[in-house]
Amino acid sequence: MTGVRRIFIDPQAISDGRIRFRPDQSHYLRRVLRLRAGEMVTGILEGEAQLELRIADPQVGWAEIVRWLPPPPEPPVRVHLYQGMVKGQKMTEIVRHCTELGAFAFHPLRTARCVVRLDPQSAVHRIQKWRKVAESASQQCGRGRIPAVHPPVSYAEGLEEACHCETVILAYEGDADLPIREVLKSPRRGSVALIVGPEGGFDAREVEMARSRGVSVVSLGKRILRAETVGPVLTALVMYAWGDLS
Ligand code: SAH
Repeated sequence: MTGVRRIFIDPQAISDGRIRFRPDQSHYLRRVLRLRAGEMVTGILEGEAQLELRIADPQVGWAEIVRWLPPPPEPPVRVHLYQGMVKGQKMTEIVRHCTELGAFAFHPLRTARCVVRLDPQSAVHRIQKWRKVAESASQQCGRGRIPAVHPPVSYAEGLEEACHCETVILAYEGDADLPIREVLKSPRRGSVALIVGPEGGFDAREVEMARSRGVSVVSLGKRILRAETVGPVLTALVMYAWGDLS
């Protein structure tokens, strides 16, 4: 089993037709992929190119660029997931699955019913961890870019920001205004914000605030889904309707 032979490359890592890997990347190439000198790996230069690389010296972490190819295509719709903060492992799952499905960015939200409260230092650690998860999921699934993971913001700030997207959807298991199917009947949108609650859901004031901003408050059917199920389901539905999942 050789694993996935793809790795994201920092633009500064290129010089003279060669790539110098970061220490964590050298470790990954040597210890996880077990690549030896002369073996090939694909380097992804975000949004720019796909590089065929020949490992020169896996000890030191150099590779030669053999060929420049166009970057892997990205979905035609940008999905921003505004996710009420859920417990650690669940957030990791959400980031992993939604990255595979093509999400563009993650915006953790502090909402009224969040049980997770991170002090600034743990927030920094968590974000770093989720960024790593987004990077390895992107490598694994062959994305052309790594979705951004933004620092947590308050519900009000997140809502404000989300409203810059062409379509804004809040998932509500209570008294929703319309089924998701109705929203997805519109012609393709370039950017979509998905707002999903934490384990305890949104409180009525939060839903009202979104409604008053013109957000579509949608239902995903009669069953209550777990918080970590909803982001991936909505991302998949949006990708099916407006993206490249077909
Ligand atoms: N408060 C609820 C569950 C919240 S589920 C309870 O404990 O009974 C977590 C989040 O998933 C919700 O805030 C909502 O955004 C989303 N969600 C779950 N089921 C849903 C459904 N059937 N339709 C729309 N959104 C749903």
